Amino acid sequence: MSVHSLSPTEHAVLRAILRHDGVSRSQLAELVGVSMPTIASALKTLAEHRYVVQSSGAHASTGGRRSDAYSFAYSRCICVGVLVSKGTAHLLAMNLRGEVSSRSALNLDDFGTANFYDNLALAIESFVSSSHIDPRHLRGIGVTVTSLAALDEASENRLRHAIESRLHYPIRIMREPFALAAAETLFHPDIPDAACIYLNATMSSAFIRSGHYVRSATFIEHMTLYPAGYSLSSEHQANIRDISFSPRPEAPTSSNHRCSCGQYGCAQMFCSAQALLHSVATAIPGTFRISGTSSTDVYTFINAMRDGSYTHTKAFNTYLDALAQLIHNIRMVLPVPIILGGEVARYFDSSDLGDIRSRVRSLEPSLGFSPSNFTILKSACAPDQAIMGAAYVLAQDYLDSLLHS
Ligand SMILES: [Zn+2]
Repeated sequence: MSVHSLSPTEHAVLRAILRHDGVSRSQLAELVGVSMPTIASALKTLAEHRYVVQSSGAHASTGGRRSDAYSFAYSRCICVGVLVSKGTAHLLAMNLRGEVSSRSALNLDDFGTANFYDNLALAIESFVSSSHIDPRHLRGIGVTVTSLAALDEASENRLRHAIESRLHYPIRIMREPFALAAAETLFHPDIPDAACIYLNATMSSAFIRSGHYVRSATFIEHMTLYPAGYSLSSEHQANIRDISFSPRPEAPTSSNHRCSCGQYGCAQMFCSAQALLHSVATAIPGTFRISGTSSTDVYTFINAMRDGSYTHTKAFNTYLDALAQLIHNIRMVLPVPIILGGEVARYFDSSDLGDIRSRVRSLEPSLGFSPSNFTILKSACAPDQAIMGAAYVLAQDYLDSLLHS
């Protein structure tokens, strides 16, 4: 049954339930502005078509079980998320609430070859059938690709066609930071707008507006942080010396201060996990590998810093200064909450977040206004965050179609 066959009142009741989970009949009558018998009749239709279920909500006032709490039937919105990284694909199915019902992982040895697209589409098809998802409740497939294995536009279209030839569901293919940001909107529904910064070996970023990730080509990581010719501290000099973000590990790295985007002084050169580790690698030769950064390296760094190592503490301070400068620059244009994720932010505790906040505050121009009170949050850093985010984008599309049709 299509949502369009609902009457305007039934539709209004459905929207009210979607926005107020566990709402009661009398609250619905008030929200929609109709009589109790009208609500009862609308609920009967919605329940018959399995849009809503009576939930066992509890009365906030009495703590007792409430018999007339209504919720959206979350089981009728199942989405599949897929994360492709070089060599593997991870898949999961989840509902609108982010409750995962099945998972799978498989090797894809043929990444980048002609067979890859068909094999991935086939893998998704067999995952859908082995997960026993009711085809009527499958709302779409979201695919994201790690930055290590980024697809160009032609490859993306090829993948889309391969999936569409096997499965007739809405498909979205998105960059990994967008999928991560979509998951933030699932985990932090109370934060409608935010700038998300992912501090991995290579930095990435995304914006959230009105509870949805913004599909745009904005790259916080390539914002000029310290322009060419800027007088850098010796720690900053150490951070950028020898760093190359070329995808080819064998690329010459010496004296290359230029970012992979062709510019000088990008945030990438100062705020990525690679920049953090490299500052110590130059101070203590042989501490870290120059190219390629694993999360174990970040873990080792943070442990050394927490243990009081002078070199690591100094490098971390310089790193936080650069990060604060970046957050300040973002907030001068867009005063939104900041969500920090990725390999480095994973280890931030509340005092680190407080420290970053005060560093950002100290950069604010003194124009006679009281210092802004802004939010810096740590990303959920969930292991399956990108895959869940990719799936959630499709769930949001479905929800939007219910709310706005
Ligand atoms: Zn750049």
